[in-house]
Amino acid sequence: MPELPDLTVVAEAFHAALAGRSVLSAEAPGPLAVRGTPAELDALVGQRLARVARRGKFLLLEFDRGRVVVNPMLTGRFQLAPPGMARPSKTALVLRFGERGSGPPVDAARWTADASWLPRDDGQVEVRYRDPTQMGKVYLLPAGVVREIPGGGPDDFGPEADDPALTLEEWRVRIRRHPGELKNLLKNQAFVAGIGNAYSDEILHAARLLPLRRRSTLAAEEVDELYQATRTVLADAVELLRVRVPPTFEKQARDFLAVHDKGGRPCPRCGTKITQIKPGGFITSYCRDCQR
Ligand SMILES: [Zn+2]
Repeated sequence: MPELPDLTVVAEAFHAALAGRSVLSAEAPGPLAVRGTPAELDALVGQRLARVARRGKFLLLEFDRGRVVVNPMLTGRFQLAPPGMARPSKTALVLRFGERGSGPPVDAARWTADASWLPRDDGQVEVRYRDPTQMGKVYLLPAGVVREIPGGGPDDFGPEADDPALTLEEWRVRIRRHPGELKNLLKNQAFVAGIGNAYSDEILHAARLLPLRRRSTLAAEEVDELYQATRTVLADAVELLRVRVPPTFEKQARDFLAVHDKGGRPCPRCGTKITQIKPGGFITSYCRDCQR
C-alpha cells in the first residue's frame, strides 16, 4: 500500500513533470474504479493542472475548476509515460497532458531539477493510474460537487505525520486522546495522516516499542521517542525513495525496510529473529528482543 514516503515522491515528481500543462484527453478504461460521471471526466479536457499534492495516503490533482482525488488503497499505482508506451493491464484512468510553455513550476521540489525522467516541455505525457485489485478509487470532484469518500477523505485527516507544524508539543497533546495499541494509533489518519501498515512497523522498531503495546502505558519519554522515530523514519524513507523510485513510479520499493514483512530474518539492531503476526490479514512485524 502506498504510504506517505511513496506518495510524497510521486506527488513531488508529478508536480514537477505536469504542473502548468493542460489535459488533452481523459479516459477511464476501468470505469468501476472511478467515482464520477462520464461528463465530469470529459470536463477535465482543456483544464490546466495547477498542482499535484499528497494528503495522507491520497494523491490530489488540482485543476483550474476542481480536483481529482485518488485513494490507491492496497494495489493502486501511478505511472508517468509517453503516450505511445503500452498501457499496463488494469489501467483505470489515463490523463494525457500537452506541452507547457513555461518549464517546471517554480515550486517544484529541488531534487527534481533537471531530472532525466522529466518529460520535455514541448512534448506530451500521460499519467496512468492502474489497480490490479480495483480496490482503490478515483474521485472526480469538479468545483461545487460534493462526493462522499467512504472511510473518510482528506478533509477528515489529522495533520500530516511529517508536517513541520506538528511539533513535539502538539504531538503530546494529540496523542492523549488515543489510549489504544500503538500500531493502530500510528495508522489512525485522524491522529496523523500518511502512515499505514508498513511504516507503522518501521517507526515502532525505530522507537523500540512493541506494536500491540497500549499508548496509555507509555512513559513521557517514550511518547517523545515515538515522535522522533516517526519523523526520522519517514524523512529517511523519502530521501531514499527520491533516488530509488524514478522513473518507475509504478513500482514500490520496500526492500530497505528494517522489519516490516521481514519475519524470520535477523533484526538489524540486535540479530534476534523478527517476529511476524497477521492480525486481521495485515502483516505486523517486530523484534521481541529490542522492542518493549
Ligand atoms: Zn532487535
